[in-house]
Amino acid sequence: LTTPRPLIAGNWKMFGLEASLDEARAVAAAVSARPPAARVAICPPATLLHRMAQAMAGEAVIVGGQDCHPAEAGPHTGDISAAMLADAGARLVILGHSERRAAYQESDALVAAKVEAALAAGLEPIVCFGETCDQRDAGQAEAVVTGMARGSLPASLAGQAFAVAYEPVWAIGTGRTPTPADIEHVHQALRGVLVERFGDHGASVPILYGGSVKPDNARQILATPEVGGALVGGASLTAADFLAIIAAA
Ligand code: PEP
Repeated sequence: LTTPRPLIAGNWKMFGLEASLDEARAVAAAVSARPPAARVAICPPATLLHRMAQAMAGEAVIVGGQDCHPAEAGPHTGDISAAMLADAGARLVILGHSERRAAYQESDALVAAKVEAALAAGLEPIVCFGETCDQRDAGQAEAVVTGMARGSLPASLAGQAFAVAYEPVWAIGTGRTPTPADIEHVHQALRGVLVERFGDHGASVPILYGGSVKPDNARQILATPEVGGALVGGASLTAADFLAIIAAA
């Protein structure tokens, strides 16, 4: 089995206007000048997707969405379909982010339906799971995360390109991170679910870590066994920080 290249994906969340494209251009210029060990992706807000995809044409930076609706089209005011993301130039999509699970009560079943929609549109899903602070304190991190994975990963992912991300809710945007041993423990449990569900293919699906990945902790986190990349929020907004994390892969 070949180990896929690590994936470093930037999640810009609801940050970024036209001028922010300069940060993406700076990332692309550096990545093209010195190809890194990792695949690099940026997931901007939907309003910037098309312009970013145009700016990244011919560059080694993939553009992705941050969410999609499970339907292909329809009367869903304010939503965006996977086909629309693909039409705008996206190649991947983040699904089940904890901010969406919390703000919009997204269930595992809904996330799984979104994954199906992403696959139908030819997008590579990055499916996210993570425990809250209370759940970790109660010793439930592994059970919560593996339960979310079982519920959010449909059987149709078999043989498809996708990644998963372990993102402890208490580590997102807080500057706090689990220890490398804690990350490894959860990633090993996730690997177990992936192999149980998808056999050999599950053994090679990248498991990203996300939650306060910064230039100063990226090397240690990315060197942790079973960490196949990073999902990066705040530190992906500036080219210098994001490039430092890419270089650590
Ligand atoms: C995220 O939103 O996926 C994330 C990991 O955020 P941050 O890096 O800012 O903690």
